[in-house]
Amino acid sequence: MNETCIDCNPSQSLRVPVSEPLAVLAARAGCALEHSIQRCTLASDQNLGHLEMQAAQDVQDLLRAALERGAQAKADATPPLCPVCQQKLTRLSAGQPRTFETRYGTITVQRTRGYCKRCRKWRVPADTALGLEESAGYSPAVQEMAALLASKMPVEDASAVLEHLTGVKVPRATLDREARRQGERAQAVRTELDRQAATQKPQLELTLEPYQMIIQMDAWNIRERDGWGQSAALRRQGQEPERWHWVYTGTVFRLDHRGHTAGGRAVISERGFVATRQGIDALREQLHAEALRRGLGQAASALVIGDGAVWIWRLADDRFPQARQRLDFYHAVQHLAAVGRALFGEDKEKYRAWLKPLLQQLKNGSSIKVIQQLEEALAQMPGGTAEQAVAREVAYFHEHQARMDYRAGRRAGEPIGSGPVEATCRQTQCRFKRPGQFWSKRGDEALLCLEMFWRNDRWHLLFPHTTFNPAKN
Ligand SMILES: [Zn+2]
Repeated sequence: MNETCIDCNPSQSLRVPVSEPLAVLAARAGCALEHSIQRCTLASDQNLGHLEMQAAQDVQDLLRAALERGAQAKADATPPLCPVCQQKLTRLSAGQPRTFETRYGTITVQRTRGYCKRCRKWRVPADTALGLEESAGYSPAVQEMAALLASKMPVEDASAVLEHLTGVKVPRATLDREARRQGERAQAVRTELDRQAATQKPQLELTLEPYQMIIQMDAWNIRERDGWGQSAALRRQGQEPERWHWVYTGTVFRLDHRGHTAGGRAVISERGFVATRQGIDALREQLHAEALRRGLGQAASALVIGDGAVWIWRLADDRFPQARQRLDFYHAVQHLAAVGRALFGEDKEKYRAWLKPLLQQLKNGSSIKVIQQLEEALAQMPGGTAEQAVAREVAYFHEHQARMDYRAGRRAGEPIGSGPVEATCRQTQCRFKRPGQFWSKRGDEALLCLEMFWRNDRWHLLFPHTTFNPAKN
């Protein structure tokens, strides 16, 4: 046995009384580490991975004891004031234990409870000081891990991944609840941030170059199980149960924040994201607040890009009335192609020969010419479904004619497509639209909200203990 060893037995997990000084625990951990190093060196079937895992175990109890003592010291130092109104609490009762999971194991803290006469509520100020208020029994670091994992992967995976990587055991159902709780807290923070953005006067920054704001919107749908088991009853009342619901999504960025990586890949260096299941009104307010935070107030001009969906343009007229509007070029192309198919059916050669010059005219901003040709084609068609289809497309092009200034857009270096928001939709769907997944309205909004805090680099506003910035990593 090593000379520095003080009564350690590395083969057993160290279960130590709380009263032992940290220095003793540290010496014990150091000693266990020495043993682990020796064992790893001598064992031909162990590599560095074995030592990495063992070393973490060797110091676990030291860290757990340190957390317990730190938590107790902070609880003891917390003045008996109401955390909400700062009023002095009355009817104090000390020694109220609370046990919870931390990053390094279970700890128990004794706190003081008191009554706030102003709020007419019992309060435990130490819980607020420790960051335990809005959790079922998890420390802030574990709350964060549950929130992050559940917003990135299905909860059954999240629970296993969490335990494997950190040793923290949070059962699947508990992890689900904890993540939702954090998501609901995130929604409250979002509401407050949006309120601030909408009411604060924009800071008049000295912007060196006038810039343009790009705003894009799209929607995708999510499957929910609200009213599960009531389908038959609903149908009897003549109602078809609706399982699919829209998630409204938007992105906003400054045109001068668009660039390319060294490898030539297109990137946007700073970008705001919004996704909500709470309807178009919610998107309108959230997207407007996000645009303000990203500099809409100081922008020289703004441009809204989207597909043909009516709600996009209504929202744009309503909330971004100064902004120019542009129909996503690729959606316009799809509608031209639909006309081509109605006119030429299976004749691919004729279809291509017809489409090519029209695409060129569309790209060159001659939407008037395109519409003229569509109208001529329509006039020569006999009635029937094909004619109706073409008539619908002609109406579509008339409707969006003012939004098809593609040549001017390209010359100004502006995007003519809504690729960025479509990519955002695809990425979120990878998490929220997996086979066999059903959501509840409450649950999906909570997790969507967490995901947007992450994407918008505001994770630290929910979990102030972390300085991690996903955009810079
Ligand atoms: Zn109070």
